[in-house]
Amino acid sequence: MIDREEIDPARTVVVATGNAHKLVEIEEILSTVLPDVRFVALGQLGEFEEPEENGATFFENALIKAQAAAEATGLPAIADDSGLMVDALDGEPGVYSARYAGVHGDDAANNAKLKERLAGVPDELRRGRFVSSIAFIDATGMVLSGEGTCEGAIGHEERGSHGFGYDPLFLPDDTPGKTMAELTPEEKNAISHRFHALQDLAAKLGGSEG
Ligand code: IMP
Repeated sequence: MIDREEIDPARTVVVATGNAHKLVEIEEILSTVLPDVRFVALGQLGEFEEPEENGATFFENALIKAQAAAEATGLPAIADDSGLMVDALDGEPGVYSARYAGVHGDDAANNAKLKERLAGVPDELRRGRFVSSIAFIDATGMVLSGEGTCEGAIGHEERGSHGFGYDPLFLPDDTPGKTMAELTPEEKNAISHRFHALQDLAAKLGGSEG
């Protein structure tokens, strides 16, 4: 837990995530354009109720999380929301990616449902993408967004043990023959939807500073 006395409101951004990997990734990429800023996870500042993510789009959900964190702490805040969109399923699981099979975060059940829904669909039609949307609210209340995708194919069987979510079934175009779960974290972070979304936001932040 971080003592509020230690926080410099002019140089702190709250990251509305419980995922330590996301915090590091956000810090690494955004510190190139915000070198004096300290990124702290919301949970390091206290216990806050999670807002209901009832947006119709990834960006709406990212904004709901960033706004809730900014309001709760009085600090600039950043949040991301992400998921998988499969063409043959009209964009499913989309914003329901985390709870596709009913229980939030049950990756095994979600992957099983995805395989079932794609049963019989030929390889050339098993196309999709991971999508990440980021919302950043600065000290003045201005909102900036970052959007990123990672294109690929949906496999027939899970492979690999890295990552999370749909990684074992997703074959990025950037890494032929390998599922995302067969990539090291460094390899994944170099091509991921979240990486591209953060780069998009970093470009806007760099531009808005100069
Ligand atoms: P969240 O934005 O972290 O809540 O992610 C929503 C859901 O989308 C996760 O529970 C996963 O099912 C899926 N997802 C998002 N990003 C990834 C990823 O990088 N790999 C695999 N699944 C992901």
